[in-house]
Amino acid sequence: MSGLLKSKIWLSSPHMSGNELGYIEEAFRCNWIAPAGPHIEVFERELCAYNEVNHSVVLSSGTAAIHLGLMLLDVQPDDYVLTQSLTFVASANPIKYLGATPVFIDSEAATWNMCPYQLERAIQACLRGEIKTSSGKGGAKLPKAIIPVHLFGMPANMTEIMKVANRYGIPVLEDSAEALGSKYYGQSCGAIGELGVISFNGNKIITTSSGGALISNNENMIKRAKFLSTQAKEVAMHYEHTQVGYNYRLSNVLAGIGIAQLEVLDERVEARRKNFAFYKDYFSQVEGVDVLEEPNEGYFSNRWLTTIMISPLEAKGLTKDDLMIALACENIESRPIWKPMHLQPLYAHYSFFGEGISDEIFDKGLCLPSGSNLSESDMLRIQAVMDELFHHAKIDNKKTAAFHL
Ligand SMILES: *Cc1c(COP(=O)(O)O)cnc(C)c1O
Repeated sequence: MSGLLKSKIWLSSPHMSGNELGYIEEAFRCNWIAPAGPHIEVFERELCAYNEVNHSVVLSSGTAAIHLGLMLLDVQPDDYVLTQSLTFVASANPIKYLGATPVFIDSEAATWNMCPYQLERAIQACLRGEIKTSSGKGGAKLPKAIIPVHLFGMPANMTEIMKVANRYGIPVLEDSAEALGSKYYGQSCGAIGELGVISFNGNKIITTSSGGALISNNENMIKRAKFLSTQAKEVAMHYEHTQVGYNYRLSNVLAGIGIAQLEVLDERVEARRKNFAFYKDYFSQVEGVDVLEEPNEGYFSNRWLTTIMISPLEAKGLTKDDLMIALACENIESRPIWKPMHLQPLYAHYSFFGEGISDEIFDKGLCLPSGSNLSESDMLRIQAVMDELFHHAKIDNKKTAAFHL
């Protein structure tokens, strides 16, 4: 049977718990079909409890959360905002929405996330006025914000990043869109900096179809986020406005989905960590393929996606593309690592501080099917493809070795 006749195995597909419809019906019953209502309040309370923070606001997307977060940190046109280059484009675009200038930071090899050493180099270059702003003007000034990303669920090196940020007094907005359920030395990712961003998009570890949140211990900031996300309507009998606002609130119907999803988050993390354990065990027997491991016990990844690097020189000439194509032939989805921002036509002309780490990760890296709803037979199909590919490679190598003898 051709692979394409087999059912598709997705990289990461939505995984409902079964309780969502009950909450949706409740929203219908009380007619709260609006970006306001009781589910929103419950969802926000439970997000706070889960992440051990005092305040949260649920929004229409993670991108909206980053946009609002940067506004709360007073990012203005011609300000600098530092973010990691290896990320999804939504970490960087809100910097541009505000007319500010992104400065891109390379990854460290251990986590694939923001390198604290390159971060400090970039800050000093901003202070020396060596970086042109979006308007073309230079400007010797402190960056307004730092956006580290917990990519694929792996916590960034927050101890060192916070040390650098605090040394200069720059606030940190954590892009934790992929890392709900990840912990750094016992603290939730997203709860360490001034503000944290979560996404509930369809492919994330839990989903509301689309949605996002800002979490923080800063009450005033979250109050202001609620104000700005509901059209900045002043307290008055009529519609009174003194500032530009946005329509960024989450629907009460979708918040109901979120409540049901949050109930099973820990199970979802467990399932994804089990996927990772399977791949780790498998690739321990394959030369030239490395899974990204947690650097030490302080790091707890939700394993949103299992990521590997294939080094052709050690993997008998096989590349990540070979594996991606072999999987695709069997109707199994895998995906390259996010293409770094400093290599994107959109952002290539902005400053980048690095030494080729993220370039290499992009070159050799692959995301493997990682959904919490993968079945045992799905895993067997994935394994069969890998067996075929890597086994063949081994045989070929023996043949060529024998030939050279
Ligand atoms: C998904 C994602 C976002 C954006 O979240 P949306 O809810 O899709 O807008 C931001 N940053 C990263 C790293 C993401 O993966």
